[in-house]
Amino acid sequence: MQKTENPEDITSSGVVKLRTDSISAGISIKEGVLNVENNIRVLLVEDEENMRELIKIAFKKENFDTIEAIDGKQGLNLFKMNGADIVILDIMLPEIDGWTVCREIRKVSNVPIILLTARGEEFDKLFGFELGADDYLVKPFSPKELIARVRALMRRAEIKINDSAPCFKVGDIVIDRLSREVTANEKEISLTNKEYELLCFLAANPKIVFTREQLLLKVWGYEQYGDPRTVDTHIKKLREKLGDYSSYISTMWGVGYKFEVPK
Ligand code: CA
Repeated sequence: MQKTENPEDITSSGVVKLRTDSISAGISIKEGVLNVENNIRVLLVEDEENMRELIKIAFKKENFDTIEAIDGKQGLNLFKMNGADIVILDIMLPEIDGWTVCREIRKVSNVPIILLTARGEEFDKLFGFELGADDYLVKPFSPKELIARVRALMRRAEIKINDSAPCFKVGDIVIDRLSREVTANEKEISLTNKEYELLCFLAANPKIVFTREQLLLKVWGYEQYGDPRTVDTHIKKLREKLGDYSSYISTMWGVGYKFEVPK
């Protein structure tokens, strides 16, 4: 595995600035819909030309700006020079492999990264998440699927910005992140650790529908990337404990769950 020459260069070339650029680029969420006033800039690192073309055409339709790299070394250099709002990264690449590119980018940036792997290729998703990848897709995949993943990650990246308030109120529910206390209409609600984290995540991201798989990933972490019924069980318990406020969490049949204060 090759190492990049100088990770500091990446920082000094303005990756930190880049993140704020992408935030100020006018991405906003209204009623759970991602609104992008300026285009999402995707760095696509993929050595197969056909695959690059396919992805590029799909992204163009969505008004994403695609920067292409044909190997890992070029990918890292382009990231260094231009940054990106999201990185789509093939694993088997000439020059520097995708794992290494992922690790090097993570040293300097929290840009969302989606890994691509070919069916039949040995792929260790846990290793990918450990390296800091946010998601992965197995080829062949539909462009629609890729676009859905990109949008989901862009939402999450945006969400993190508003995630820092130590105490926040949603409807009659107050969540205090410092003491991890939850009160509903000033009455304390006793929650388990996971129930608390699930509520906290949903309430911090209101009006957005999350699939059970997304909740497993966000709330449980990849270790339990597995049984979606875990989410159902916790939602059920959480609703019971919320009592009069159980309707704050709604089930979107066949899709997932969302948090919304009823009007
Ligand atoms: Ca490849």
